[in-house]
Amino acid sequence: MGKKQENLMEKIVSFCKRRGFVFPSSEIYGGFAAIYDFGPYGVELENNIKDQWWKYMVQMREDIVGLDSAIFMHPKIWEASGHVAGFSDPLAECKKCHSRLRVDHLLESVGVVADEKMKEEEISRIFSENKKKIKCPVCGASDFTDVKKFNLLVKSNLGNFTEDWSKEPVYLRGETCQGIYVNYENVLNSARVRIPFGIAQIGKAFRNEITARQFIFRTREFEQMEMQYFTSPEDEMKAYEELKKYRWNFYINCLGLSEKNLKWHKHENLVFYAKEAYDIEYNFPFGFSELEGLHARGDYDLTQHSKYSGKDLSYVDPKTNKKCIPHVVESSAGVARSMLAVICEAYTEEKVGEDTRVVLKFKNNLAPIKVAVFPLLKNKPELVAKAREIFNDLKKEFVCEFDDNGNVGKRYRRQDEIGTPYCVTVDFESLEKGDVTVRDRDTMKQERVKIEELLDYLHDKLE
Ligand code: ATP
Repeated sequence: MGKKQENLMEKIVSFCKRRGFVFPSSEIYGGFAAIYDFGPYGVELENNIKDQWWKYMVQMREDIVGLDSAIFMHPKIWEASGHVAGFSDPLAECKKCHSRLRVDHLLESVGVVADEKMKEEEISRIFSENKKKIKCPVCGASDFTDVKKFNLLVKSNLGNFTEDWSKEPVYLRGETCQGIYVNYENVLNSARVRIPFGIAQIGKAFRNEITARQFIFRTREFEQMEMQYFTSPEDEMKAYEELKKYRWNFYINCLGLSEKNLKWHKHENLVFYAKEAYDIEYNFPFGFSELEGLHARGDYDLTQHSKYSGKDLSYVDPKTNKKCIPHVVESSAGVARSMLAVICEAYTEEKVGEDTRVVLKFKNNLAPIKVAVFPLLKNKPELVAKAREIFNDLKKEFVCEFDDNGNVGKRYRRQDEIGTPYCVTVDFESLEKGDVTVRDRDTMKQERVKIEELLDYLHDKLE
């Protein structure tokens, strides 16, 4: 990461805390590594991103339905999926500072292509060949232990009341999609769907990530937005190509990311059952990194769950009478990664006269607060009363904020910083003429709008 980009990332991290977007977890206890909490504006932004996703992936699609499966599931599910045996990252320890590091990331840092899915022997060999070139990112030493594969599943003692629970743990789910696969038949039998169709869900997932140093990009508790699309074997790749296009457009049209900051990354090193895998990457200040994965998974998932559960999950096409295990194409995106991309994209510093203003140029649909309402002066009860009246009306329609603190210029700056698209100010003229000033975040232009037309005006602008 260049110095300028490093500064930008630092600025964004401290900005997110100062303005109530993201807080380090358990901060008053000294923090808790790789976990974050979302503050008052963060949770609004997060909910807006999830709402956009749900609308785009479920509401707008006749062929996709929603689900909310539990975090805890039968432990055998994680054996069937391959997670117990193979959901691991390659780990090496720095012998000097004892930092635990991901070997694929260390290799990438010296330009050697590696992948966490490589077999232990293969990645160990590449690591030994390149060990001398690699420096520990924490202390700079170049002395590492051998590579070990480290399983990422987080274990719990749920429902086990013995001291010996770790031998038969219940897992916190490592991905949300397993809940979709095991409910495939329930959905098929209860909703009006036929193959091809998709099941979408948003929910928490947990992974014992070895290194977690990129703010909310990689955390041990995170939320995923996943959609699994079930197709016939013949239609799998067609569905995959369509899904790729559909998901690319989501980032541009729904989240407002610019196309130049997005790129495709093709996986060369595929797991044995996968037909094709691509990531959509975003140009974060620390470089292009994964926002979402799109995978053509063949019939692996339902075959495995048929085998391990003993329940036949094959499908008979009612038109052709042909029987098959449905194939799956998957879209798997992270809420926090989308949120970080949206913040990075929106974060702008602008010269205004002698000053610099920080403004988050969110798309209106994502802005945590849509409208702020101010009385020009705090100590004039008639202005405050009118502003409150307007605020009470508007808050039924939009997430609004009332602010009477400091001068109006400062209030504008505060709203710019959290990306509020419109500010409404009630002044003495408002009392006489029944209109208010509406100020636009991006152009900073102000216009007078009749109070009785304000709601329509804002609806028009915000949609
Ligand atoms: P990475 O290579 O970055 O570890 P992955 O390929 O393991 O990610 P997937 O298993 O494909 O990720 O998960 C799908 C999506 O879930 C990712 O694209 C990302 O948006 C999100 N995600 C995965 N792991 C994390 C994490 N530790 N923290 C935040 N989001 C995550």
